[in-house]
Amino acid sequence: MSTLTSYDPSTHEEIGTVTITTTEQIPALVSSSQHAHKSWATLSLAQRQKIVANAYQHLAPIQDQLAKLISQEMGKDYQRATYEAGGTIQNGAYFAQEIAQALSSENIDRSTQLQYRPLGVVAVISPWNYPLAMANNLIMPALIAGNSVILKPSEETPLVAELFVNRLNEILPKNVLQLAQGDKKTGQALVVSDIHMVAFTGSLAAGKDIMANAASGLKRLVMELGGNDPMIVMANANIDAAVQFAVASSFENAGQMCTATERIYVDARIGDEFERKVVALARRYKVGPWDQTEVNIGPIVNQKQHQKILTQLQDATAKGAQLLLGLDHYPLPFIQPTVITGITPDMLLEQHETFGPVVAISHFQSIDEAISRANDSPYGLGAVVFGGQGANAVAEQLEAGMVAVNQGVGGGNAPWVGAKQSGFGFHGSAAGHRQFAQVRVISK
Ligand code: NAD
Repeated sequence: MSTLTSYDPSTHEEIGTVTITTTEQIPALVSSSQHAHKSWATLSLAQRQKIVANAYQHLAPIQDQLAKLISQEMGKDYQRATYEAGGTIQNGAYFAQEIAQALSSENIDRSTQLQYRPLGVVAVISPWNYPLAMANNLIMPALIAGNSVILKPSEETPLVAELFVNRLNEILPKNVLQLAQGDKKTGQALVVSDIHMVAFTGSLAAGKDIMANAASGLKRLVMELGGNDPMIVMANANIDAAVQFAVASSFENAGQMCTATERIYVDARIGDEFERKVVALARRYKVGPWDQTEVNIGPIVNQKQHQKILTQLQDATAKGAQLLLGLDHYPLPFIQPTVITGITPDMLLEQHETFGPVVAISHFQSIDEAISRANDSPYGLGAVVFGGQGANAVAEQLEAGMVAVNQGVGGGNAPWVGAKQSGFGFHGSAAGHRQFAQVRVISK
């Protein structure tokens, strides 16, 4: 029996272990999940909604335990981890109701009805950066639609997933929600097994592999992949508001957020003032372990990710970018709040998702140049423009699933959706909830 050990990224101390689900165990796991699906799917939508809402209510007494585990396993500051756990649990009943409503049958005309039927077994494969929220976004609609679910959480955050699933299973019927622990190998074995859908949140590279492996069974896919979100700051922008957003959105979760601001294009006429103010604000951020007070940038999740950020910064400075804030030397596992300017299209920092606490700035001479560079990416998750008159017209030209003017992307009951290679299929909103169901048109 092999085990997976979870470590605190700040101290590298062991937090706990889980048993790995081997590739040989996957067929039996899927078979029990198929069996559970059969009876789960015979319940009415209202019954499934009620059971799932009750299960989420049952999480309330362990909310703080979940928040602490999130912080311990992936390093997020405790306040943010509390928001993540609290949001997931406290909105549970509301979302269960919204999902059930979206999945109710609709009469198209007097003889024809549109029904949202279960698909079967859904594999939810989730990342570490929001370990509870990202798993939950896909689990809940899949369950209420009448599917059974096998969650394959990130190998960085197995304990949060185990606590979450075990607690829900004190209320849910047997085997309707199960866990497959392990790394990429476990994920791959699950994708090729006898399941019906893969709902995935993670990197573009893994998404491509999953898509290839899912092809032979023509399995349904929801792909919530990476981003390299641009921000355009126009000359007529409210500079202070733009600075606040740029810094907060680049540093949130130590920059380890799919819609973190990754590239900032600022009008050259206000570029120097913008940079001065960004540096002044960025200096106020405190880096450290999650359990120290006032820390708002935690550790980078692992050594590989830490090295990737350093490589991008070294590449940029070697090609002429100037470091405005940040140390020359970044001891593991932290990255000091970093502000860098003079970014050009040939730099790794511009081309790839960084996933670190870095504000990366370029000055532009014309708005067409800014739009063209913002769109020159295989990704298209979010894009933001700060400006006065003309900002809405710029927003209309940005190639992303979620675009916002003078604010961050997403929010409310809108779908969380990527364009280009940031994915397809999505969650959130009635249209998102319906991605987890088979549409059946029935004429009687
Ligand atoms: P990752 O792709 O390395 O891993 C995600 C999950 O997939 C893990 O559980 C992992 O074990 C599994 N996995 C990896 N390769 C696999 C394969 N070939 N087959 C099956 N399973 C596989 O991503 P990560 O490092 O955990 O997360 C960070 C990435 O997730 C970033 O790119 C970020 O932008 C993205 N992300 C996107 C969203 C979104 O909503 N679009 C949200 C959060 C994170």
